[in-house]
Amino acid sequence: MTLKLTGTVAIVTGASSGIGEATAKELAAHGATVAVVARRKERLDTLVTEIESAGGAAFAIAADITDRAQAEQAVQGVVDRCGRLDILINNAGLMLLGHVVDTDVEEWERMIAVNQNGLLYMTKAALPHLLTSARDDLRGVADIVNISSIAGRQAWANFAAYNMTKFGVNGFTEALRQEVTKLQVRVGVLEPGAVATELVSQNSQKVQDDLAASDGAAIPVPLQPVDIAESIAFMVTRPARSSIAELWAMPTSQV
Ligand code: NDP
Repeated sequence: MTLKLTGTVAIVTGASSGIGEATAKELAAHGATVAVVARRKERLDTLVTEIESAGGAAFAIAADITDRAQAEQAVQGVVDRCGRLDILINNAGLMLLGHVVDTDVEEWERMIAVNQNGLLYMTKAALPHLLTSARDDLRGVADIVNISSIAGRQAWANFAAYNMTKFGVNGFTEALRQEVTKLQVRVGVLEPGAVATELVSQNSQKVQDDLAASDGAAIPVPLQPVDIAESIAFMVTRPARSSIAELWAMPTSQV
């Protein structure tokens, strides 16, 4: 059976958990061969087995995308193996919260390294291959989807540096969209509200407790990773004429 992404090759960063893991499964279910990228190789291997058991195609690339050479090798490895690249989902991210006055500068550097530098390295390495795929007859289009956040649209105390990284992702996405859209590379940003993943667990227990106690933090029914995965799949399965430049996906229970 021909599916919408049959014959395409996709990279999903941060695929070892949460949104990235669900997205890899979703794109594979639409027929893409999915390269799953993250640092925790054993998790990626489990995911590959699950995708293959469901009849899909995937392979694992263990890489730390904050290391430019590793990011470049990841992209080159995919192209060497598959001969093409059609879709890049820049999903890997960290959310380290806290008041500016209390936060270690090293935490900011770690977060900027993933949320911004890693996204830049992956995009720069992938773009020539995406431009090539966009010119061929398979779909006549290629895709980059950058996972930003509601924190790329709204700023809050405790979120300052995370806000900065995600506002930056939004700006970069729109500028790049204008550069390459007429070359048939669609560049879109997806901004989720709260999703039930491991993201918050990277913070100290105190930061997690403060967050849980803060005004407006109560979100009774967060999104599930599959909700975002389906939105990403929607963005990359539009007809070649249609580019979703921005998608803001919120839990119904989050203001
Ligand atoms: P998870 O913590 O479940 O996933 C984060 C992923 O990023 C992991 O797979 C992790 O893999 C990967 N990652 C982290 N650092 C690196 C690195 N240096 N190199 C390669 N991969 C790395 O969180 P989510 O699924 O929630 O987060 C995915 C994205 O969604 C993030 O960009 C986040 O900011 C965004 N987002 C999440 C929201 C939420 O409420 N959950 C809301 C809005 C946006 P590993 O550790 O194996 O390397």
